[in-house]
Amino acid sequence: MSAKILDGREIALKLGAQIKKKVAQLKKQYGEPPRLASIFIGENPATKLYIASQQKVADGVGIEFQSCQFPNDISQKEVVERVDRLNRDSQVTGLILHFPLPDQINRSEILRHVNPLKDVDGLTPENAGQILLGRVRIGSCTAQAVMELIHATGVDLRGKEAVIVGHSELVGKPVGLMLLEHLATVTTCHIATNERGYLADHVKRAEVLVVAVGKPGLIQGDWIRPGAVVIDVGISRVNGRVVGDVEYEKAVQRAGYITPVPGGVGPLTVMMLMRNVVKAYKFQRTAED
Ligand code: NAD
Repeated sequence: MSAKILDGREIALKLGAQIKKKVAQLKKQYGEPPRLASIFIGENPATKLYIASQQKVADGVGIEFQSCQFPNDISQKEVVERVDRLNRDSQVTGLILHFPLPDQINRSEILRHVNPLKDVDGLTPENAGQILLGRVRIGSCTAQAVMELIHATGVDLRGKEAVIVGHSELVGKPVGLMLLEHLATVTTCHIATNERGYLADHVKRAEVLVVAVGKPGLIQGDWIRPGAVVIDVGISRVNGRVVGDVEYEKAVQRAGYITPVPGGVGPLTVMMLMRNVVKAYKFQRTAED
């Protein structure tokens, strides 16, 4: 048996066509396009690549793009001031802040300063909290991309054994809450699960497996439960190639559905960002929620 490949590029392309239409409608109705401000501090080649891809996708759907690079030695106070300026700028629809941040910058404090109506990465306390309450207002782009891919399989999540590896605020935690909302039985594994030697046991039970760690080959192919839905969020570079966390060649023989890396979660994450910008634009103009 060989798994069906969940092609994130194809799904992103379809969604992009819908978003482009919506952006054109909004532009006609309100006279100006949505604008995304993408903030990054210092120099990070992976972030630069991500930002270049945001710019390309934004151009494609008609969203204006503003790249905001701050110097690596910027102070906390200055970042807060610049974020406040973007919050107040009525031309800016959404802000995304890229990680990692330099040591002198306190991530939670900055996130508390982002206007939740402009928080298109869903990381402010307010937007993250909405997910706990069972409604995704503006949710984490990656978590939403994971859910889109799972829904694309048509698999009914009710009562399914869902195992997540990784418990970050950006991916593991919101995906866990979203799966719970669909009445999956959710287990979240992390570094300590592995330290105790239980990771394989949990993964082997998974009918839906989401892995977001950043360690190539962490999930061995023969741990995959036959027929499982496997979503590999991990991105690492090995010998110049981009790879995920799952041993793909073996896993593809056992899974029912699997995402490739690259070409799975990544392209859809960028499209979710555009969808969040459109949502934010509407919230700001109609106060609809
Ligand atoms: P993170 O560093 O915030 O969290 C990593 C998680 O992995 C933690 O829960 C940690 O406990 C767990 N972990 C670490 N080592 C482990 C091990 N040996 N066994 C089990 N668990 C272990 O990471 P993140 O921001 O959630 O990102 C995870 C990966 O996903 C990275 O490779 C990142 O590049 C990728 N990512 C991809 C996208 C995308 O769009 N495709 C978006 C965001 C992140």
